[in-house]
Amino acid sequence: MIALKDIEKYYASKGVKSYILRHVSTVINQGEFVSIMGPSGAGKSTLLNIIGMLEEPTYGEYKFMDEDVISLSERKRIELYRNHIGFVFQAYHLIDEMTVAENIEAPLLYKKVGGSERKSRVADMLDRFNMVGKKDLFPSQLSGGQQQLVGIARALAAQPSIILADEPTGNLQSAQALQIMELFKKLNKEDGITIIQVTHSEVNAAYGSRILHLLDGVIKEDVRL
Ligand code: ADP
Ligand code: ADP
Repeated sequence: MIALKDIEKYYASKGVKSYILRHVSTVINQGEFVSIMGPSGAGKSTLLNIIGMLEEPTYGEYKFMDEDVISLSERKRIELYRNHIGFVFQAYHLIDEMTVAENIEAPLLYKKVGGSERKSRVADMLDRFNMVGKKDLFPSQLSGGQQQLVGIARALAAQPSIILADEPTGNLQSAQALQIMELFKKLNKEDGITIIQVTHSEVNAAYGSRILHLLDGVIKEDVRL
């Protein structure tokens, strides 16, 4: 599903290159639940963003679902992203001026999903996440854990095959964090959704099937659980 070969990322300033990632090669198959771990500045978010096509590597090859991501046009890449990837962020990135229901619906508008299908998917998500009574509230009226559930519902409404999450529980208390990890595990086991998360938490990582340890932009260890 995901094949990275010799990925490098650096920023050049006044002829000096600072490497964020070097020689990163790995394959992630459909159905895996991978945690990317490592100290701050190791390149975890950069790697996740490259996998999610939000950032381009400086060098290297990237095949996503048999498509050569690097050579795709911007338009094709966005289409590939919208059809397959759901992103979940540490700070939720909900739209403050939109209600819970509107936030969940937003990506479906971009995907040009028809009106009745949108309504039914949003209703399904609200139901599944026990948020029917909260559908007209705004993000600021929800707890952090609830906001993250909306962020995940929004990602799922687009029916992705893969969820990419950058420190999804970084702003949450442990009970809420466990709820999110239980949900990820269920999505992975029951719905077959591939999950790749950046996390500092050993507890979170234990929910997954594999850990990639990054240090100074290099994969130091690749552990199957
Ligand atoms: P984490 O270590 O939890 O993954 P972040 O992903 O928020 O934290 O950021 C990683 C580190 O990289 C932080 O110390 C942040 O200040 C720094 N950082 C992020 N973006 C940039 C940037 N564009 N230029 C310089 N430093 C950055
Ligand atoms: P992590 O998620 O492991 O904390 P990141 O991928 O966020 O690491 O960042 C790795 C390093 O890349 C950090 O040291 C950060 O300062 C640097 N960095 C990120 N974005 C930029 C940028 N636009 N320009 C220069 N340095 C950057």
